Amino acid sequence: MNIVLLGAPGSGKGTMAQKLAVELNIPQISTGDIFRKNLREETPLGIQIKNIMASGQLVPDEITIEIVKNRLAEPDCANGYILDGFPRSLVQAAALDTFQNIDIAVNLDVDEEAIVARLSGRRFCPDCNGTFHVSTLNGANVCPACGGKLIVREDDTEATVRNRLAVYNKTTLPLVEYYTEQGKIATVDGNGSIAEVYARVISLLKK
Ligand code: AMP
Repeated sequence: MNIVLLGAPGSGKGTMAQKLAVELNIPQISTGDIFRKNLREETPLGIQIKNIMASGQLVPDEITIEIVKNRLAEPDCANGYILDGFPRSLVQAAALDTFQNIDIAVNLDVDEEAIVARLSGRRFCPDCNGTFHVSTLNGANVCPACGGKLIVREDDTEATVRNRLAVYNKTTLPLVEYYTEQGKIATVDGNGSIAEVYARVISLLKK
């Protein structure tokens, strides 16, 4: 199954994608993770996108589309994949349709207040790409999954979060309409615990 996960920053796309990848045995393709890896390794791409990412803007469509096109052509994607954070614009969605067939776009719908609360308490593990909330860490600063040192993502600061939400509303939200017109949208209530939201997502996909 070729799955797109839609939703605002902090809606839980990454967390759901990681769990689905394990259960469905298909890869999670996160453009954010790909870009962050390039930043960490200071590749030419990483240097080019550093300021864009730090300010919460989108990496240019041409660059992003090319990366995803190449990644989806790899053999591990032959039986399906979960796209997490792509497409993020109408241009990206239209390009994706020229080289892949998407089966379903799952839209995680979360109240904006809950999103701000989630993002402001978010901790990220650069070693395993896990995301956690301070409220569940009991003051610890190590990743519960792999023992790596947790950090605050540079783009989770308040000003950047506000900017990312504005970019989402303007550029990414129209994708809900795009996939609705294609009859591929499935909106899931993304409020609640990880277990509750995941149960909704998996029951929908297994229908
Ligand atoms: P994420 O981890 O999905 O929140 O992405 C973090 C940042 O990576 C975004 O704020 C953008 O700067 C960049 N990014 C990730 N995916 C895309 C995309 N599909 N198009 C453009 N920029 C992206």
